[in-house]
Amino acid sequence: MKYFRNIIVGGWSLVLGYSVTIPEIFKPIITVQYPRQKLEMDVGYRGHIELVRLPGEDGHFCLACGTCERACPSKVIKIQGVKPKAGANKAGVMYLIDFSRCSLCGICVDVCPVDALRHSMAYDLAFYSRWDNVIDLVARFKEQQEQERS
Ligand code: SF4
Ligand code: SF4
Repeated sequence: MKYFRNIIVGGWSLVLGYSVTIPEIFKPIITVQYPRQKLEMDVGYRGHIELVRLPGEDGHFCLACGTCERACPSKVIKIQGVKPKAGANKAGVMYLIDFSRCSLCGICVDVCPVDALRHSMAYDLAFYSRWDNVIDLVARFKEQQEQERS
């Protein structure tokens, strides 16, 4: 008797399971096949910080004024700038940021007097080592330009 009871209980459990699973097969797919497919983030998305490109030019706006470096509450920014010639404005040649300690608060973006920074739309910045989190945004900026050209 117990044998038949186990068969009935097991069968009923199977029916209940399939009644949950089968309707899901016919619903629209809401996941993407990452990394072959990537999501487009909404306008308000706040990804990691990046340099903004000058309209119509290859360069960026950063003057290496250091305002963002001083304002960052996590103290994760280090900037170096040079004057291309006497009397000219400085230009940022190195912009180190430690993303392992950046809270993406956006203060650096807000305080920049020339709007040289923005939050990127990237959501998959990942590293194998803690030390790889320290990125030079100027070098990254140039790499992205090279990639776009090739
Ligand atoms: S987003 Fe915030 S924590 Fe990150 S670098 Fe900018 S000011 Fe610092
Ligand atoms: S990003 Fe803006 S605030 Fe920061 S050093 Fe460059 S110009 Fe100054």
